[in-house]
Amino acid sequence: MIAKNLQSVRQQIQHACHKHHRHSEEVTLVAVSKYHAADKIRQAYAAKQRHFAENYVKEALEKQALLTELTIIWHFIGHIQSNKTRKIAEQFDWAHTVDSLKIAQRLSDQRPKHLDDLNICLQINIDAEDSKAGILPDTKALIALATSICTLPRIKLRGLMCIPAPKSDSKSEYQTFRRMVALNTDLINAGFNVDTLSMGMSADIDTAIACGSTMVRVGTAIFGTRH
Ligand SMILES: *Cc1c(COP(=O)(O)O)cnc(C)c1O
Repeated sequence: MIAKNLQSVRQQIQHACHKHHRHSEEVTLVAVSKYHAADKIRQAYAAKQRHFAENYVKEALEKQALLTELTIIWHFIGHIQSNKTRKIAEQFDWAHTVDSLKIAQRLSDQRPKHLDDLNICLQINIDAEDSKAGILPDTKALIALATSICTLPRIKLRGLMCIPAPKSDSKSEYQTFRRMVALNTDLINAGFNVDTLSMGMSADIDTAIACGSTMVRVGTAIFGTRH
């Protein structure tokens, strides 16, 4: 089942890329395995999936301990509490949800020296929702934060991430993602060497790819509904 789901998600990505004149290698599929058992990760791995994302540190560590023989690229996509930064710095390759200098500083301090730099994205609260983490979509604030973060060792700013508010139509999905692209362009024009737009989930993969996403984070469409 998982292998089949993966195949159809990959096809969906390929079609969307083709339709919007993009190379499918530009888009990385990150399988979101939260609430799903290690065995399901193993099945996806057997179907050649390598990027996996988790939202909760404790749950992620339990699964990672069962999967040590696999060469997985681990992404952290949950809210980052400061008392969890050490484990994130030690156990993950990517953290998508950095939204303050304080958290970035801790990740930098705690990233083990023998590992490659931790890849980070800045989370943008693109719809300015009270319920969501992330910095507000403001170019000046974004550039100020990016400037401080780029001075820190052992972490590497790769780009931006968002979790949009649910939209009722694809036109408003578009508008939201286009605002992410505009912020990303502002960053690039300010001289930052970023290459990642982490946006798009099971329900809006196509729109995200149409707008320029380079990482889609897909859970339900691969693993089924979460319990
Ligand atoms: C759970 C989650 C996803 C995956 O969502 P699906 O709708 O199941 O594809 C993607 N990104 C984040 C940040 C999540 O928390």
